[in-house]
Amino acid sequence: MATPIEDEFELIATYFAPLALGYDGALGLEDDAALVDLPPGERLVATCDALVAGVHFLPDDPADLIARKALRVNLSDLASMGARPLVYLLNLILPRDTEAEWVADFAAGLATDQAEFGVHLAGGDTVASDGPLTIAITALGSVVRGSELRRAGARAGDVLYVSGQVGDAALGLLVLQEELEGPSAEACADLVARYRLPRPRLALGARLVGLAHAAIDVSDGLVADAGHVCDASGLGAVLNGPDLPLSPAARRLVAADPSWLARLAAGGDDYELLFAVAEADAESVADLAGELDLPLSPIGRLVEGRSVRLLDAAGAEVEVGKGGWGHFRERPA
Ligand code: ADP
Ligand code: MG
Repeated sequence: MATPIEDEFELIATYFAPLALGYDGALGLEDDAALVDLPPGERLVATCDALVAGVHFLPDDPADLIARKALRVNLSDLASMGARPLVYLLNLILPRDTEAEWVADFAAGLATDQAEFGVHLAGGDTVASDGPLTIAITALGSVVRGSELRRAGARAGDVLYVSGQVGDAALGLLVLQEELEGPSAEACADLVARYRLPRPRLALGARLVGLAHAAIDVSDGLVADAGHVCDASGLGAVLNGPDLPLSPAARRLVAADPSWLARLAAGGDDYELLFAVAEADAESVADLAGELDLPLSPIGRLVEGRSVRLLDAAGAEVEVGKGGWGHFRERPA
């Protein structure tokens, strides 16, 4: 069935207002703006990320997964600040021929993740355009004043940790582009899921407050994002290639062809947290990993200097190139 959209008011009332139920500051999406309360002593944390059809997702990707990724990448930014998510605002720029069924699936995806992450829709805007489908979500969270995690603050000698596994999302994108050979069909499905449905590390971010000196979420690529922490902290870093936490599929690729290491270290979209902790706190990190049932792997160190160097098993430097995605540098296929 393909139902044309009458007007945006119908969309808001039918599909979006239900997502605001349970947050009274949303005013049922019936006023001009939302009201957001903050607990005393807390500060608002605000972040916005846009996804554009043809750049961040393929136009015929499932609408519910597009919605969930759009929300999750924003929640990941809140996680990296150590913030607790409150609400989000949704800006939808829809091609004129968008069907109501697409919006229904999109809203269903949001409902699923709202339940999982404890957030509500509090407002937004809906417009039609002749351009590509674009989704911009603004997520609002809160953090106790002064306890926010920043990119700046890492110290020389700190250990760099990363959560989960890195490189899988980049491999998932290669699977979708039909450019990856080797992994089984089942492994490929897992990799695609890692690309389409990142897991914002909110519980980890909250627990890193008071423990990590600096943190960032890995969206541009491990090496590029380590570089962002280094730049903000006025330091350099040495990453040990063999210590990177890789999935079995990624590990097999590196074993067959060591040049994969650099590609995995440059790949983005993992949305894991990369954070710097004093060496003396290694045990606390290990305890936290057990508590959250999430691998937290030491992968290198902050050092004096300004460069990020990735070393292979023999201690030789691996060339990673620019080490990440740049919107004005690369052209989407
Ligand atoms: P305006 O004329 O100021 O643009 P709108 O008619 O766009 O007002 O919005 C009316 C209400 O609907 C507002 O509360 C707004 O936040 C909400 N709204 C509009 N689009 C969305 C959306 N995509 N998601 C959530 N809320 C929305
Ligand atoms: Mg509007």
